[in-house]
Amino acid sequence: MVEKILIERRKKIYQDIKEVFGEKNQIIQLMEECAELIQASNKYIRYPTESSRTKDFAEEIGDVEIMLEQMKTYYPFLKEKIETSKKKKLLKINRKVNKIRKETEKIGKIGKNTN
Ligand SMILES: [Mg+2]
Repeated sequence: MVEKILIERRKKIYQDIKEVFGEKNQIIQLMEECAELIQASNKYIRYPTESSRTKDFAEEIGDVEIMLEQMKTYYPFLKEKIETSKKKKLLKINRKVNKIRKETEKIGKIGKNTN
């Protein structure tokens, strides 16, 4: 129940943002947030012991999630296309993971046989 209220509250905020800044500017903002996430991801990997990098990484993931939620709110007609695309992508990556896993197991067995 609390979650549903939060979702409704977010949708209202997203509509207010759209009215004040406009859809086009929010797409530009999406691009900026994606760029910030790219940079934070890079620094998170390069400096794994710096806690500020972890904080920045989490913050930028949150920022991109907000932008994606906005896009889904503004363009509900994309919902089906997004879901179809996600399903295809997940099936593809799942096949790839399984293939790599099988190949790795084979190499492991070969390695054991040669020792
Ligand atoms: Mg940001």
